[in-house]
Amino acid sequence: PKTAYVRTKPHLNIGTMGHVDHGKTTLTAAITKVLAERGAGTFVPFDRIDRAPEEAARGITINIAHVEYETDTRHYAHVDMPGHADYVKNMVTGAAQLDGAILVVSALDGIMPQTAEHVLLARQVGVDHIVVALNKADAGDEELSDLVELEVRELLTAHGYGGDTVPVVRVSGLKALEGDPRWTASVEALLDAVDTYVPMPERYLDAPFLLSVENVLTITGRGTVVTGAVERGTVRVGDRVEVLGASVETVVTGLETFGKPMEEAQAGDNVALLLRGVARDTVRRGHVVAAPGSVVPARRFSAQVYVLSAREGGRATAVTTGYRPQFYIRTADVVGDIDLGETAVARPGDTVTMTVELGRDVPLEPGLGFAIREGGRTVGAGTVTSVA
Ligand code: GDP
Ligand code: MG
Repeated sequence: PKTAYVRTKPHLNIGTMGHVDHGKTTLTAAITKVLAERGAGTFVPFDRIDRAPEEAARGITINIAHVEYETDTRHYAHVDMPGHADYVKNMVTGAAQLDGAILVVSALDGIMPQTAEHVLLARQVGVDHIVVALNKADAGDEELSDLVELEVRELLTAHGYGGDTVPVVRVSGLKALEGDPRWTASVEALLDAVDTYVPMPERYLDAPFLLSVENVLTITGRGTVVTGAVERGTVRVGDRVEVLGASVETVVTGLETFGKPMEEAQAGDNVALLLRGVARDTVRRGHVVAAPGSVVPARRFSAQVYVLSAREGGRATAVTTGYRPQFYIRTADVVGDIDLGETAVARPGDTVTMTVELGRDVPLEPGLGFAIREGGRTVGAGTVTSVA
């Protein structure tokens, strides 16, 4: 029998973000190693974090990009995104739940396009607190690190993060992973900065339950399981829920977090829900599981959107009314028609208002963040302002 999950410390969701190869996965592995040595969690090696979710989906614990650990004061779920192609998509969908982020910047390379893109997206989806890991500090020199630190602080300030006060910790994920005491201490210092700088967010426990499906799988003999982060409310075994997108109403017959059964899941938890009598192929990533009748999906909304510049990885040319990109909303990926009204044209670097008509109904509400993607790159980041 599995040990039940016992909620002893406040739970927070954080994640590593930053340019490819700056050391996000190495640092994630190093954090679990440093804490495991303190007896506060299990070491998760690099290969187990970096492999594709499909390959690793086994048992009821599915969010493979998630690792779990505890500091003295908190329990964390930490998400490390796999390849760059899926990065922004996962960040946007996961970031709706991120209470804080560790921005990994290589002290050798400084700010790169994806560094800026991730900071922008974090701001857009409401990640209010960032701690910087100036990584690979083992391989650089002080002066270069000073320069990069300055540059990162400026970038954060430019995006409204108060770059002067953001903790910037010089670390070496690689050396900490190798057990070097100096760099193990640097990872401890980083965790202390996260513990103290990222505040406990407000959880909407009294709101009706809502979870956006990240992954679906079948447990032989038990049924269909969906995984994701609880966006708001609480859910217990035996509760009735509705699956929006699949148009089914069912009952939750099992609940787990990180492989441990739990009585009640609440906003902020990463969970697996076992659903009674739901066929595997009726539920998909992007569907929403919610308290019955609590949300009315819609397809038309108004939004404020920032169109990324070419330098930020966006388009080189303007977008116009009639443009039909993909919208990443929570975990859903839906095509949408944009209408720019009288403005008619939005150039890279512009912030504009637009109305959007999606290809299908999804749960929408003012304040919800989303990304606009085209041909594998992010071209815009926006926030829903009103729903028609
Ligand atoms: P990611 O793409 O951001 O997840 O980066 P990885 O964790 O896969 O690391 C990319 C490369 O940088 C690998 O070859 C790592 O061994 C190397 N690396 C990561 N962290 C450090 C570090 O702290 N110091 C040094 N010297 N190399 C590192
Ligand atoms: Mg990686």
